[in-house]
Amino acid sequence: MKIWLDGGLQDTEGARVSVFDHGLTVGDGIFETVKAVDGRPFALTRHLDRLTRSARGLGLPDPDLDEVRRACAAVLEANPMPLGRLRITYTGGHGPLGSDRGEQGTTLVVAVGGTARRPDSTAVVTVPWTRNERGALTGLKTTSYAENVVALARARERGATEALFGNTVGRLCEGTGSNVFVVLDGEIHTPPVASGCLAGITRALVVEWTGARETDLPLDVLDRADEVFLTSTLRDVQAVHRVDDRELPGAPGPVTAKAMRVFEERSGDDLDP
Ligand code: PLP
Repeated sequence: MKIWLDGGLQDTEGARVSVFDHGLTVGDGIFETVKAVDGRPFALTRHLDRLTRSARGLGLPDPDLDEVRRACAAVLEANPMPLGRLRITYTGGHGPLGSDRGEQGTTLVVAVGGTARRPDSTAVVTVPWTRNERGALTGLKTTSYAENVVALARARERGATEALFGNTVGRLCEGTGSNVFVVLDGEIHTPPVASGCLAGITRALVVEWTGARETDLPLDVLDRADEVFLTSTLRDVQAVHRVDDRELPGAPGPVTAKAMRVFEERSGDDLDP
């Protein structure tokens, strides 16, 4: 497997990042996961815009997007696979322990792994922990993902593949790695970015293509929604057939099934050349 590091392709086995890299020691880093179909990245420009926004939010220098594009192309060419996930990681570089941030430039790693097509529906659980809708990192895609790892472990213990968070004022927010949508009286709603959720790229496309509304939703909307679905780069649009103990039989319901179809049809056009 070849990855991109230090400005070029390297074998994974030989590739080394400093043990004092601030991405490792304090989680001072950002990332993107980009779907690649037959070696072509999906919605790469949107991902690179978000990478830059995350860098600015964290106070990192802007990533060199020409290099990131070259790195993605080179890694995909070196590791051919029908359905892959590019992982772009960008950190504040390394510096002595105790320094506020990396002092030796930045670190860019681009790697790729295979991924399976997700099932049409899945189970989710809610967790008692909250997303902070007013935090310094809110809306940034940082490598500080440990909270999501803990929540996902809770989901797995209960036979689910995703955990949903409310925010500090009891509103529905998002999953550990996905955005959430609900169907109420035939209309699609998703929490606004002000809820503290990540501005998901799949979320934005689904809002654009289905006319879904951004609505401030109480957490207990999950007890009465007619349909629930998730969106993310690796899930695309995925129906939910169980929320905690509540079964949603027949998922995907008709509105979700239509959103899945629209996404599948339209997303073919958004593959970056
Ligand atoms: N929310 C969080 C916390 C995420 O980590 C992700 C993706 O990884 C998403 C939402 C979905 O975003 P996207 O559709 O851009 O993959």
